[in-house]
Amino acid sequence: MERCMRADVVIIGGGIIGLACAYELVRRDVDVIVAERNARVGREASWASLGLLRQRVTSDDAYGRIAQYSADAYPDLAASVHEDSGIDPEYRRRGGLEVAVTDEKLASLGRFATFHGSRGLAVEWLEPRDIRACEPALSEACLGAILYADDAYVRPPRMLRALEAAIVARGGRVVKGFAASRIVRGRGVAVESEGDTLYARAVVIAAGAWSELLGRGSGLFLPVRPVRGQALMYDAPAEMLRRACGVEKTYVAQRDDGVLLVGSTREDVGFDSGTSAEGIADLKRRAAIACPALGEMAPARAWAGLRPAPARRFPYIGEVESNVWVATGHHRYGYMLAPGTARVVADGITADETPIPLDDFHPERDRARVEGDQSGS
Ligand SMILES: Cc1cc2nc3c(=O)[nH]c(=O)nc-3n(C[C@H](O)[C@H](O)[C@H](O)COP(=O)(O)OP(=O)(O)OC[C@H]3O[C@@H](n4cnc5c(N)ncnc54)[C@H](O)[C@@H]3O)c2cc1C
Repeated sequence: MERCMRADVVIIGGGIIGLACAYELVRRDVDVIVAERNARVGREASWASLGLLRQRVTSDDAYGRIAQYSADAYPDLAASVHEDSGIDPEYRRRGGLEVAVTDEKLASLGRFATFHGSRGLAVEWLEPRDIRACEPALSEACLGAILYADDAYVRPPRMLRALEAAIVARGGRVVKGFAASRIVRGRGVAVESEGDTLYARAVVIAAGAWSELLGRGSGLFLPVRPVRGQALMYDAPAEMLRRACGVEKTYVAQRDDGVLLVGSTREDVGFDSGTSAEGIADLKRRAAIACPALGEMAPARAWAGLRPAPARRFPYIGEVESNVWVATGHHRYGYMLAPGTARVVADGITADETPIPLDDFHPERDRARVEGDQSGS
């Protein structure tokens, strides 16, 4: 059936970023449609995520500001979504550990502890005996750790379900099976897919790792590429870990229901979102280094997702052409940055000004780098 619908704002992509933007807009009484190509929202990178909210970005630049803005906004977002949907996204602020098992990492953690402490983060240095007291399941080979008191996490599938239900409860619409192929600009904006068209005053591209393809089809420069991340799930004994722990680039975190997550790999494999035997073996090895008991257990599940990676560190957020907004390229930190991203996008669309200047998040800032890379390859 051919669909032709109209809204104030159409958001392309129903991952954590698109849903968070939509929710922030419906909270301000904006008429929103989320257009998602899959039969269900939140089934790509956002589903694969561990949902850790590690607040480490303290730089004075726009990235540091949006990270802080997001961290400050999380409790309100989680509570509001819970209230509107009846689904608890399990936002928990239990603190997190960054742990060293090598001398090299120990030295770098020492520097981070000093730096992050001087930047106002709640940090505490832990000696090996303190680590064992804090998290007995961690390896005895741990040499030192930083305890970040404000680290938090959400449970991604719940957050996604809660956001979708909350958007609908506030009058927003979610259109599934709509694969946007082109954005046509005129007085307003038309978003086309095969035979279907959505009309709006403004559009937000939040299509994750696929944003570049959509941009290219619409004459927009949006250099996002997919970076695969694999993760494992263990049915571990309850309360094995109290906090999310990063052990030499491997994260282990246990949910309220006892399920223990281990992640993740970083691989340039194009749009292949499957798991691999090598990736799973690597994660199992790293899991056993972090928590030796996991070496005795078989993972219950493995999965993978494609992170949307920008050309450099900054995601792409802002109005790239009149009434065409982007919110993509959040790479490893989509959950961490979702509330701040949603607020600045909603501010920009509804009030024409944003609390954080968005110049540094403009994709054109990466054009020279991308074109230089292409001519050099
Ligand atoms: C293993 C793993 C662990 C991670 N752990 C963390 C973590 O602990 N903390 C953290 O902050 N981040 C983490 N991340 C990163 C985080 O998951 C991503 O940054 C985030 O999910 C990106 O969200 P998104 O909405 O931009 O993309 P996606 O979730 O991929 O959503 C994009 C959506 O757009 C849809 N779409 C694409 N093209 C079209 C089109 N043409 N028309 C309509 N719809 C379209 C897709 O179907 C998809 O639903 C992790 C990622 C992985 C893979």
